[in-house]
Amino acid sequence: MNKGEFLYEDKAKKIFYTDDPLLVLVEFKDDATAFDGVKKDRLEDKGILNNRLSALFFKLLEDNGIKTHYQKTVSEREMLVKALDIIPVEVIVRNIAAGSLSKRLGIPEKTELKKTVLEFSLKDDELHDPMINHYHIYALELARPEEMAEMEKTALRVNDILVPYLKERNIILVDFKLEFGRHQGEIVLGDEISPDTCRFWDSSSGEKMDKDRFRADMGGVIDAYREVLRRLEGGEGPAVEGKS
Ligand code: 5GP
Repeated sequence: MNKGEFLYEDKAKKIFYTDDPLLVLVEFKDDATAFDGVKKDRLEDKGILNNRLSALFFKLLEDNGIKTHYQKTVSEREMLVKALDIIPVEVIVRNIAAGSLSKRLGIPEKTELKKTVLEFSLKDDELHDPMINHYHIYALELARPEEMAEMEKTALRVNDILVPYLKERNIILVDFKLEFGRHQGEIVLGDEISPDTCRFWDSSSGEKMDKDRFRADMGGVIDAYREVLRRLEGGEGPAVEGKS
């Protein structure tokens, strides 16, 4: 599979055509951004770690019957994925109050939610990804009702798969964001699943092991990502060349 012309890039990834029109290549960058790009940095090896972690999660989900865009890992920073017509609706799944939910509704961080919460945001950086509901989604023709039903069912199923999987590895899945797209008439899970898009807390200490460390200038961002990968791969840490 040959890497073709550059297609586009977002804050964390570059996308390239391949010689198969149904497939594109995703290259994970080391760039880190927060607060709609106001805070920026480069975190060495983040792209390598997120490529590995996303592949691991996508494979786990595929093994459990979820349709994802993941095809195969091509290099330490690159994965081959199905080309999607992206649905511009971010699906957020929450198990424990944190982040914008805590702020918006005045719920203290760490409050366990009695029921899993699903939220939807319009994927639009300029508008700061505003929260939207089904009425907006249908009025703006962002997705059809049957597509929303499929996305919601899949998001809850992903949560049901990931929560126990991570718990066994001493990680609490607090919340996460998913993106979906259309591919040959099917709704497929796309984007990435990584500490950039999920909140992971250590089950014993409660310590944050995700992008919140970057957002809050806590330091130790990459060490935390590496520790997540170490726990999930069950070995002695990632074989990221030349790094401790
Ligand atoms: P919150 O709404 O509390 O900021 O985010 C909820 C969850 O969704 C967090 O795990 C967060 O990382 C993820 N999330 C929501 N929107 C975005 C986004 O635009 N980019 C990334 N990387 N993650 C997001």
